[in-house]
Amino acid sequence: MIERLKNFQFRTRILSGLGAINALGELSKSMGAKKYLLVADPSLESHGILESARKSLRDSGLSGEISLKVEPEPYLDNADSAADIGRDIQADIVIGIGGGSAMDTAKAASALLTNPGKAEEYVGLNVVKHPGIPTIMIPTTSGTGSEVTFTAVFTNRQTKAKGGINSIYMFPNVALLDPELTFSLPPDITASTGMDALTHAIESVTSLSSTIFTESLSLTAVRLISTSLRRAVYRGNDINARENMLLGSLFGGLALADAGVGAAHALAYPLGGNYRIPHGLANAVLIPHVMEFNLPAAERTMALVAQSMGESVESLSMRWSAEAAVDSVRTLCDDIGIPAGLSELGVPMDDIPMLVEGALKVTRPVENNPRKLGPEEAALIYEAAF
Ligand code: NAD
Repeated sequence: MIERLKNFQFRTRILSGLGAINALGELSKSMGAKKYLLVADPSLESHGILESARKSLRDSGLSGEISLKVEPEPYLDNADSAADIGRDIQADIVIGIGGGSAMDTAKAASALLTNPGKAEEYVGLNVVKHPGIPTIMIPTTSGTGSEVTFTAVFTNRQTKAKGGINSIYMFPNVALLDPELTFSLPPDITASTGMDALTHAIESVTSLSSTIFTESLSLTAVRLISTSLRRAVYRGNDINARENMLLGSLFGGLALADAGVGAAHALAYPLGGNYRIPHGLANAVLIPHVMEFNLPAAERTMALVAQSMGESVESLSMRWSAEAAVDSVRTLCDDIGIPAGLSELGVPMDDIPMLVEGALKVTRPVENNPRKLGPEEAALIYEAAF
């Protein structure tokens, strides 16, 4: 009976504000921690961000180790390496700092500290059987929302298949948001990760699993991102834009954790697995084509997207409003320099059948897409995106 009811629950404590990184030590201590495993994006060392985290932890009397073995679009063995360090030092808290790649690696490392075996054994839904050790996630990109989701996404180094470790035990305990940590994000990564967040917001609102609870989160994310992404790309130290982007990404994450995503994500996964195309970039190139495809099946929700993007839709029919959403997303992509198509990303057109096969295996987004996505439809969207 309970499974059939609409379900929505915030599971992660959210703390945000300028300079929040300086509260990391106090926060960890208040959670009873003494020994930390810090899983970090290695590029943060050069921006002074890691030193701020270390100093705060040191000032509160905590000691620990750092794992910098985080690759963009991480492999499963990145999580195993981090967990090995955590086991050696008997860590009692895992802190993830970086984009989705570092946070996902940290979330999986926490689970591996209380569940036996290697990360590859836990790919799938609810395979993780025990809660991990406590976690704090600190995003430094505004894209994935991983700081509040129940998933950690990895590529299998051998098979190149991309998939998630999905479990209620993967929800982080705390998300610590500090917009200043995203100032150093270069314009191209700001653009592609920001479009990832917008794709989460759009696909969670058009999802067949969307609810009244998630719809309001999705649309708030659309509003925050569409009013701020251009500014964040072109003026990286605009505090208001960076703060809105971080919140937009978080709201998108909260929405997708319950409502799921759709075809753009299913079609993006094989592009990440086979050619290492960053997840946000793959989503950014695909989303206008997916919206066009979904339009007849999602007029109402796409009209709401147009409204949240600030389009003047009051005097338009629902159909025209929905089309305005597609145009608005296209214009945004052009404005922030998203590549025009998959050919620019070096994807060979002959690979479409292989890509279609991979995409249709990403079952949850395929099932949640508002318009049925079979092999022919998937191939048509890929072709349109070239
Ligand atoms: P990322 O973590 O791979 O980072 C992208 C690049 O930005 C890297 O080169 C990194 O070094 C750099 N970077 C990060 N922060 C920086 C900063 N402050 N200054 C300068 N450079 C910085 O990118 P991402 O898009 O955040 O994460 C992508 C991963 O997250 C993919 O594996 C994707 O599948 C996954 N993902 C997870 C979820 C989830 O809910 N867990 C959701 C969507 C995507």
